[in-house]
Amino acid sequence: MASGAVTGREPVATVSVEDGDVGGPGMGPKGARLAGIGGIHVCPCDNGIVREPLGGVPHRDPDDDSPKEACGVFGVYAPGQPVAHMTYLGLYALQHRGQESAGMAVSDGDQVTVVKDMGLVSHVFDERTLAPLTGDLAIGHTRYSTTGSSTWRNAQPVYRGVGDTQFALGHNGNLVNTAELAREAGMLDGTVASDSDLVAELVAAELDRAASVSVHPSAPSGGHAADPTLMGRGATLDAAVAAVLPRLEGAFSLVFMDEHRIIGVRDPNGLRPLCLGRLEGGWVMASESPALDVVGAHFVREVEPGEMVIIDESGVTSRRPFPEDRLNPSLCIFEFVYFARPDTRLYGQSVHHARVRQGELLAEQAPVEADMVMGVPESGLPAAEGYARASGIPYGQGLVKNRYIGRTFIAPSQEMRALGVRMKLNPLRENLTGKRVVVVDDSVVRGTTQKQLVKMLREAGVAEVHLRLTSPPIKWSCFYGIDTGRRSELLAANLTVEEIRDYLDVDTLAFITLDRLVASTGAPGAGFCAACFTGEYPVPVPVSLSKGVLEATPEAPSGIGAPVTSGLFAPAMLPADDARQGG
Ligand code: SF4
Repeated sequence: MASGAVTGREPVATVSVEDGDVGGPGMGPKGARLAGIGGIHVCPCDNGIVREPLGGVPHRDPDDDSPKEACGVFGVYAPGQPVAHMTYLGLYALQHRGQESAGMAVSDGDQVTVVKDMGLVSHVFDERTLAPLTGDLAIGHTRYSTTGSSTWRNAQPVYRGVGDTQFALGHNGNLVNTAELAREAGMLDGTVASDSDLVAELVAAELDRAASVSVHPSAPSGGHAADPTLMGRGATLDAAVAAVLPRLEGAFSLVFMDEHRIIGVRDPNGLRPLCLGRLEGGWVMASESPALDVVGAHFVREVEPGEMVIIDESGVTSRRPFPEDRLNPSLCIFEFVYFARPDTRLYGQSVHHARVRQGELLAEQAPVEADMVMGVPESGLPAAEGYARASGIPYGQGLVKNRYIGRTFIAPSQEMRALGVRMKLNPLRENLTGKRVVVVDDSVVRGTTQKQLVKMLREAGVAEVHLRLTSPPIKWSCFYGIDTGRRSELLAANLTVEEIRDYLDVDTLAFITLDRLVASTGAPGAGFCAACFTGEYPVPVPVSLSKGVLEATPEAPSGIGAPVTSGLFAPAMLPADDARQGG
């Protein structure tokens, strides 16, 4: 009987649940006790007692127009060390990858305990929450939802108990064959709420199947008693994960754990990052290298596309569960533009340096006479520095960021929404009045942020605004875990560059070319996904997913040439994106 505990906002009394075994795909743990206890309920998808989340779902900032990252994952194997606290620090370092929910699973060798809730890492965990989470290994997760809504149930790590095996998983990315896999496995509608939940269900079913075929020699008349030696040995999770992985398509950097090991996996395209670090007496895996630094681990290497890394008492083992012909390194190039922290290293290259280089290359590509170069905080700042250096135009600060506005602040009303950008960024008039400014930013998605920003700069008295973007025009939706929104919402999918310039009311506008962006990474031959710029998806996107997303909607503006003052791109008509669930 698995006796893992899944808790909500605060750990509550761990109660053994008469859960029996998982009964195969879609069944979930049988016999889980369903009882309401004063605001506490047993979640039918997990084993154990949970508390209803208190914090509610953070609203998406309606004025934050950047593409949204999908998640951060972390894992640590360090017997005798404070693994829960280390996971907390690791998640803190990965907070930028997801702010909707946070969670961790910790094993003390006998029991896996999961604590997760909606909100930021600092909201979900405090000393009181972490203190009882003692153990030798842990995984953690910060979430931004893409497939599956932003609810407590979909917060991660996802937990399953099968026979004597308990396991948990955290997922960064997005599967493109979720529906097909669920159908193939005969799951009923609603059985799984997200692609990550589906992976857990498939692994649970594989464990269950392994148990039922490992007939104990002494079982009467060839019955289906689980082989206790197999189920208890722990190698079973490795085998179940390796059996499931080839069926998954899309983007997935995964961390798994059972009572005795952690496992890290990167999809055959390596769309989302994952790296490995060494600790005194242990190992760490994380989406980005700063999460290694913060726990005192040193970077060893990136987990390779298509690689499965198992860490247990015998050390690190590498497996290759995917067929050779699926290996096609295609790291999301947006990691270098916006998503990753500047102090992260990807493909062995500094993300900060790549951003500076993007500015330098933009200065060569799109020079302009101006008095000052400024960046839009934060991701535009290194590129502005590069543009200024390459152009010889002085670098200056034109915008002050309110450092206390988090990414999840709630716009109080429709009227206040118009002030949204100003709540986060305020112009430094003394530096701007009468000047011709080059403004460097990372991307244009719907253009809402830039439109308000330019208006604000003009009100501050700038003479000219020359906008430079460190990504090419985003013309296609992402299906690999980045929320770009529907194609009909993408400004560049519907307007030419000149029309966008007109809409944003800037004097000149330039997007970096894709070849320059690739060159800026310092690893041009390493392999990148650039599908949101080119429409060339490295992993085929099923028609069922692309329907309604790949094509522009009928209401998208045509006949272009006039400024867009009404219709899809009129600011008042832009959909509130907290209702959006990207692919
Ligand atoms: S489509 Fe764009 S955002 Fe999505 S993985 Fe590819 S490059 Fe990244």
